[in-house]
Amino acid sequence: MRMQTFSTKAQLKGALSKHHRQNDPVILVPTMGALHSGHRSLLEQARKLAGEDGVVVASIFVNPIQFNNTSDLQTYPRTPEKDLELCEAAGVDYVFSPAPEEMYAGERSISVEEDFLSTTLCGASRPGHFSGVCTVLAKLFNLVQPTDAIFGKKDYQQLAIIRRMVRDLDIPVRIHGAEIVRHENGLAYSSRNARLSPEQKEQAVVIRKAMLQARDEFRSGTGVREVKDHAAAMIEAVPGTRIDYLEIVDAETMQPLEGNREPALVAAAVYFGDVRLIDNIEL
Ligand code: AMP
Repeated sequence: MRMQTFSTKAQLKGALSKHHRQNDPVILVPTMGALHSGHRSLLEQARKLAGEDGVVVASIFVNPIQFNNTSDLQTYPRTPEKDLELCEAAGVDYVFSPAPEEMYAGERSISVEEDFLSTTLCGASRPGHFSGVCTVLAKLFNLVQPTDAIFGKKDYQQLAIIRRMVRDLDIPVRIHGAEIVRHENGLAYSSRNARLSPEQKEQAVVIRKAMLQARDEFRSGTGVREVKDHAAAMIEAVPGTRIDYLEIVDAETMQPLEGNREPALVAAAVYFGDVRLIDNIEL
């Protein structure tokens, strides 16, 4: 099937109706564009899951209501033409890329709130972020009615919150978590990497190194406090970095961990100049 791109909800629903009638697998991969190898891996997994009869839907939407910082929204990288090429090469059937005015009614007054998993990490440092994420995903799930949706573990807290949302709201979709795709030097692919200078790109590898060190220390029984201090010191030794958070949390509840219990997660958000990068590692 030749890939089709839609900018309105009506077009999208029109194309999907026959697949719903036929009970075809419909696999959704939500993105904010500026697509890279991490997104590509999700889309390829979606293609495999969909099989021959199923359809892969990629949404490309820089969701304004999940940005708590206007300048982050304004400077968010956008590469629309390249995105379509990547989608086509990955075997996507339908791309949905609506304008904000198409997505949201002007007098919108309902949103989805999560008030436990989102109290830590990115939820604590980006007020309103996860409400914006859950709200747009509730809309996308209703519009696409996918059988399955795939999310990256790069945004681990987001994945945990989405799993909880579909459980608590009985949304009939299977959620899949995909492994983090990294550059050879260990830096996780991120759309925001495009905003780093070549020097910052080299420096940013320190997040991965600090996470790996934290994992080793945690596993060999070093206390949580020391593990975090050592990792933070490694990152702070690089000039121009600022740690937003560096935490060890329970991998399911996202709450800070006291002892060396598993499953745990080391997660960090670090500024390089004004670019904020996140990464994590499962323990
Ligand atoms: P975004 O466009 O940043 O909102 O990301 C869209 C989806 O791609 C989310 O589910 C992310 O977790 C996932 N993703 C982003 N970067 C990576 C990566 N390096 N590896 C795996 N998945 C990723």
